[in-house]
Amino acid sequence: MVTKSKSALKKQLDLYKNEGNTIGLVPTMGALHQGHISLINHAYSYCDKVVVSIFVNPTQFNNIADLEKYPRDLSNDTQFLKEHNPETIVFCPEVNEIYTDKVESESFDFGNLVRHMEGEFRAGHFDGVGSVLKRLFEIVKPHKAFFGEKDFQQLMVVKRLVELTQQDIDIIGCPTSRNEFGLAQSSRNFRLNKAQLKQAELIYKALTTAKVMFLEHSIPHIISTVEHMFKEDSNFDLEYFSIVKEKDLIPTTQKQSKEKYRAFIAASVAEVRLIDNMALNY
Ligand code: AMP
Repeated sequence: MVTKSKSALKKQLDLYKNEGNTIGLVPTMGALHQGHISLINHAYSYCDKVVVSIFVNPTQFNNIADLEKYPRDLSNDTQFLKEHNPETIVFCPEVNEIYTDKVESESFDFGNLVRHMEGEFRAGHFDGVGSVLKRLFEIVKPHKAFFGEKDFQQLMVVKRLVELTQQDIDIIGCPTSRNEFGLAQSSRNFRLNKAQLKQAELIYKALTTAKVMFLEHSIPHIISTVEHMFKEDSNFDLEYFSIVKEKDLIPTTQKQSKEKYRAFIAASVAEVRLIDNMALNY
């Protein structure tokens, strides 16, 4: 089933729910790739029916050029899904189906989770993410929803969102899917040519360098090593490289025993902004 209509979707899902099926939701912005497929496969391992939403959410873009350049190709996406997961229910609404009054974010109290990294460099981004997901969750009312660790800060924010909005949905994190050279799959990679994709592997190299160094070196030393890697490469603009405690996503320069740490990075190659992250000590 492929539908733009929330009432048609709800009707179909009510039938499935009445038959006792569990429903999984995989929210996406389209330009589907293997990372999305890995989420869908994950969803099928937990749920009877899987809904994939395809919606480029205007309220989560703080930069209009970025929104306009975001790759969109619905017929390609539905073909891709047919090849990999033909049973998947595809919900691809127009903007006014989701934002019935105004195309505007509500604001949420995500606390420290949004103080740094994407929250700091993309003002309003997570309120936009929260606004669209709250609506998608209300429409689909899934038992479980699946999100990639590729956007780890988003995953933490979504867990908080369902607490704040008291929506009874299990939020499941799924591992980052990478190409053979470690580059995380991303819809934005479609905007890079072959040479630029090769250059983008520096992001993975930086994260693995941080991971290898983590046991024996101080956090400031790791950060300066990674920053140096980017200074040496003129193809790249490093926006941030941060090492944070996983539980609160606050950047830190001190290591404490028994804490989990993660490195986060945002960098642009050929004006395409890419993000990635990696666990450092587990
Ligand atoms: P997007 O379409 O980029 O908004 O992503 C939709 C969902 O797919 C989000 O939960 C992302 O975290 C997840 N995702 C995107 N890329 C990957 C990847 N390479 N591996 C795992 N999950 C991913």
